[in-house]
Amino acid sequence: MHDLLIRNATILDGLGGVGVVGDIAVDAERIAEVGVVSSHGRTEIDASGWCVSPGFIDTHAHDDGAFLRHPGMEFKLAQGVTTVVSGNCGFSAMPRDPQADSVAASGGILAGLEGQFTDLEGYFAAVLERQPAINNVMLVGHNTVRSLVMGEEKRAPSEVEMRCMQQHVTDALEQGACGFSSGLIYRPGRYSETQEVIDLARMASPFDALYTTHMRNEGEGLLEAVDESLQIARASGVHLHISHHKAAGRANWGKVRTSLAKVDEALAQGQRVTLDVYPYTAGSGRMIEYFNLEHPSPELAEVIRIASCPAFREYEGRMLKDIAVDIGMSLPDAVRHVLMAPKGDRTICIQFIIDEADIETNLVHEDMMIGSDGIPDLRGQPHPRLFGTFPRVLGHYVRARGLLSLPEAVRRMTSLAAKTFGLSDRGVIAPGMWADMVVFDPHSIVDTATYDDPKQEPDGIGWVIVNGQVSFALGNHLAAGSGKMLRYRRCAYGDDN
Ligand SMILES: [Zn+2]
Repeated sequence: MHDLLIRNATILDGLGGVGVVGDIAVDAERIAEVGVVSSHGRTEIDASGWCVSPGFIDTHAHDDGAFLRHPGMEFKLAQGVTTVVSGNCGFSAMPRDPQADSVAASGGILAGLEGQFTDLEGYFAAVLERQPAINNVMLVGHNTVRSLVMGEEKRAPSEVEMRCMQQHVTDALEQGACGFSSGLIYRPGRYSETQEVIDLARMASPFDALYTTHMRNEGEGLLEAVDESLQIARASGVHLHISHHKAAGRANWGKVRTSLAKVDEALAQGQRVTLDVYPYTAGSGRMIEYFNLEHPSPELAEVIRIASCPAFREYEGRMLKDIAVDIGMSLPDAVRHVLMAPKGDRTICIQFIIDEADIETNLVHEDMMIGSDGIPDLRGQPHPRLFGTFPRVLGHYVRARGLLSLPEAVRRMTSLAAKTFGLSDRGVIAPGMWADMVVFDPHSIVDTATYDDPKQEPDGIGWVIVNGQVSFALGNHLAAGSGKMLRYRRCAYGDDN
């Protein structure tokens, strides 16, 4: 008798193999048998006509605070996501100094949260107390570390400050962080020279951990920013992972082909490089980071939609240009009106800056993973990627557009991500692996979250299993609370496949 048995499913192993009909038995937290299983299960799922694959891994999450605020992680679990990588874009929940402004240091991730943790161990313990629904692996963020050590200083660090930042990075890696992330477009990361980032990314080298980056520029300076990222990773001897690869702004559309060619050239020379993308033509983030208040770009203001705005809740879900007409202001004045209001700096916006063709170019690259980049602020009208990313790739880009095969898309969402982020016994369906799985209908899976109605769980996801526990079943969240906080280990399988 097994604890769980999934019968007659089309099994996608996560390694890119075609689907094979069979059964999967789970004992406790791990997969026990795959193939034809003759014994029974205490719980059985008849998955005839469904596919089962390893649970999806969201390589680009900002869920550090969400694990404390929404431990049910419904917006990820309902997509079939069983593991996220948090601490991206240079902002992480830790390290944290309870005496300092931890909300600012975390880029707002910890807004409204109390807690006494200071390091990765403490953060993990705080999350586990809340019995999270899914797994989390953490990056330690440059902006966070720099804020703690140097505040908002617009200069290079002193030797003492550098040693202090390096120690923070090393401490997090020693406790199990999977890498060091930067967000060089944001404050205070943007005040750093390339050498500072090299000197910090280097700390990841002895751990064979990653350097992930929201690059310094994703628009007119995209290609130079890719060069800088490759240089940082080469000089520090670490694997480079480029976050949410895109060419922002109409004038730059199409440049992703050239930047991917740079990546391919580096790969051909033996450098380790991977990337991720979200399947939408809009980005999203803290609006204050995108505008110079003295000269707000009218071109950008034109394509801004307000996602959440504590200063003016009535603006949420509306295009800024429509708000400007209503209140009788020019676009630049409307930008200032929103951002300079009390709490205006907490406004999250959605910006329509990406070309659809570039998303498709990105998705066909074989080292491209899927990262939602969802910002888990559930109050306003968040970017629909928070709820829809993975089903959108499978429903729209795989099934409707035929851009890549289903087994290949699943490989990118599972074993490739697990291998890259050091999750050595996840991301593949095989005996002995952790039982993280999603049962979905390849004919109906699709996102339903839209910009106008973004908090909608997708269609076509049947069951989600996290560490052996059925956590989501036919639209119901079961509050199994079986998520784990994962520590980085360089992967043993897959290096030669
Ligand atoms: Zn980012």
